[in-house]
Amino acid sequence: MVVVEVIAKDKNRVEFSLTDASAAFANTLRRLIIENVPVLAVDEVEFSKNSSALYDEILAHRIGLLVLKTDLESYYLKSACKCKGEGCARCQVTLSLSAKGPCTVYASDMQCKDPKIKPVHGKTPLVKLLKGQELEFIATARLGFGSEHVKWSPGLAWYKHKPLIEINEKKNTNPEACVQSCPVDVYEIKDGKLAINKKNHMRCHLCMACVDVAANNSISVEKNPSEFVFYLEPWGQLDAGEIVEVAVSSFQGMLKSFEEKIKDAGVAEPGQMR
Ligand SMILES: [Zn+2]
Repeated sequence: MVVVEVIAKDKNRVEFSLTDASAAFANTLRRLIIENVPVLAVDEVEFSKNSSALYDEILAHRIGLLVLKTDLESYYLKSACKCKGEGCARCQVTLSLSAKGPCTVYASDMQCKDPKIKPVHGKTPLVKLLKGQELEFIATARLGFGSEHVKWSPGLAWYKHKPLIEINEKKNTNPEACVQSCPVDVYEIKDGKLAINKKNHMRCHLCMACVDVAANNSISVEKNPSEFVFYLEPWGQLDAGEIVEVAVSSFQGMLKSFEEKIKDAGVAEPGQMR
């Protein structure tokens, strides 16, 4: 069974280890996170006034890429909504803006009836208006998936193999050169000998610079095939815990529907299954 352990966590990033896993497992989790976790993003913008220097299309593109705080409990996917995709208060939300120059229009100037829905980075500038220039629009946001467009992706996810580093102390005659060869400070000198700096050990990205420099082939570095370090940097729509939870439950849903299809296939007449 795969063991998950949080290594570090802060507001912008979470780092955890996967033990007894495979590259396929880690990559499945990565793809589920970036493609299968729904978040809100603006999908349509209706302009009633725009005398700014930017065309409607350019502004709509900028608005579409804004990161919106997402409340997954209050909104449904359009495809799963009672309105059958027509658009209603349960599956979409509007943000409106009215501004007159001279001023800089920021993301936080957009008004939304739902106070929970707002741009994560309010100070994102949309456009600068000169004196007399006006901008007025209504933007409609809905839930979507990263597989459709990256604006619906909840964050950046990647992983690497844990490093397996072995030092042959007797053969290693140039410890200082080895320390200097590492771009991420994995090594240190202890009692005149080359040693692994435990604090920086996991920073090793298998560049093999130390292996090239070490005298008498005294260092070996390999990928650990069953242990990984996984990184997740949420853009801000959802927090890291929520992202992983939704990703995993979406996979469980996929497995369930797969199981049902297999069962359906199982009751088919022999010959129909070919
Ligand atoms: Zn609806």
